[in-house]
Amino acid sequence: MGKLFGTDGVRGIVNEGLTPELAMKIAQAACTWLGGGKVLIGKDVRYGGDMIVSAVSAGLASCGCKPYYAGLIPTPGLQYAVPRLNYDMGIMVTASHNPPPYNGIKVIGANGVEVPRNAERVIEDILFNERFRKVPYNLVSDLRVENEALEVYVEGVVSSVDVDLIKKKEFKVVVDGANSVGSLATPKVLRSLGTKVLCLNCNLDPSFSWREPEPTPTSLGYAAKIIREVGADLLVGHDADADRAIIGDDAGRVHWGDRSATLLTEYVSQRYPQLPKRTFTAVSSSHFVVEGYLGPKGIEVRWLPVGSVNISHTLIREGGLSGFEENGGYMHPLHQPVRDGAMKTALFLEMLAYYGKKASELFDKLPKTYPIKGKVPRPPNFNMRNLYEHLKDKYSSCKFDEVDGLKVVCEDFWFLVRPSGTEPVIRIMVEALNPKLAREVYDTLKKTIELFIASITS
Ligand code: MG
Repeated sequence: MGKLFGTDGVRGIVNEGLTPELAMKIAQAACTWLGGGKVLIGKDVRYGGDMIVSAVSAGLASCGCKPYYAGLIPTPGLQYAVPRLNYDMGIMVTASHNPPPYNGIKVIGANGVEVPRNAERVIEDILFNERFRKVPYNLVSDLRVENEALEVYVEGVVSSVDVDLIKKKEFKVVVDGANSVGSLATPKVLRSLGTKVLCLNCNLDPSFSWREPEPTPTSLGYAAKIIREVGADLLVGHDADADRAIIGDDAGRVHWGDRSATLLTEYVSQRYPQLPKRTFTAVSSSHFVVEGYLGPKGIEVRWLPVGSVNISHTLIREGGLSGFEENGGYMHPLHQPVRDGAMKTALFLEMLAYYGKKASELFDKLPKTYPIKGKVPRPPNFNMRNLYEHLKDKYSSCKFDEVDGLKVVCEDFWFLVRPSGTEPVIRIMVEALNPKLAREVYDTLKKTIELFIASITS
């Protein structure tokens, strides 16, 4: 059976990998799986959005679902609205942080969370066998408009923080909206919190001509310069569907998401003691920052495979303080157990107000580490297991974790080796407590992997 869903939904180049025909079939399969009901559709700013929304709406209607359209909205906005406005499913048309030619589809369950892997497999099975539900002519619904979704979401984020506490501080925040739907929600949330907002890249532009859709310390570099010029307390940069938020501090430094999430998780454990003292993150997050900082504070860190959907479902099942990824995704379970860029921003302001500290002072509490990321080509049919065993022999004095790929944790460095889910490469991630060691470990590891591949393929 074929596979359609990747790490987070279905993605493809508009009119090539992702055609209107495919979009319609995905909607037909999802509606057949659901067995009928009300479905809320939303989109981000990307090319082909209206075409895919029309195809999705047609597919849903032909199978007896009732399609409603929320228009432009962040993914977490649609996710928040689905259970609160009594929808049975949501379909978000977005390719998140992918380059401009891409669009995609995320299927959201009635609880507002992306459907679990086993449901994706059932939807794929229905699609590939074309076992679509069909309803008679008089049960085919028209597309209706849902006007409340964005407003309900913004109010939901605002109501999840201490508004009076934040308002007293009169914060200034630079928002980079990635020229997409984050621009429609986060500035509204911040203004409701008495914050002055300087909005960059807040015009809607599917060509993303000013900034790539992925927020990183590099892509937000120019925005970081502005923070100090305007004397802002914080920078927040979203991806194109605004489920991610990458934070920059008042000193003009932009931090990966595992650093900001570590601070937030400590704050949530102090402010909301009713939550179980554990957090969930992907193996790709920094071991030294997350485990090294939170572990001694009595917070259990649970390492999970890469992919936010699994983190969400584990957080719901087991309960905890937070779920997060180094890419800027952060889940605040007292709001909703999915990544939410505006919620992360509001919670960060609440933390600054509660401690009465600057963002730079908080980030300075975290260990200083030196990460290096890279990749090597992976030959077809290459067996990763053999490579893992080879590396375990070589680094036998270290600790191993094989929840996703191979993670090797040594005294003053750790690394992660795993196959990419989207391209034929092996991803390497190294982090050490000094820059010279990080470079040495990375160079040695890369060479070891290349030699091992050459030895078995020659
Ligand atoms: Mg995203």
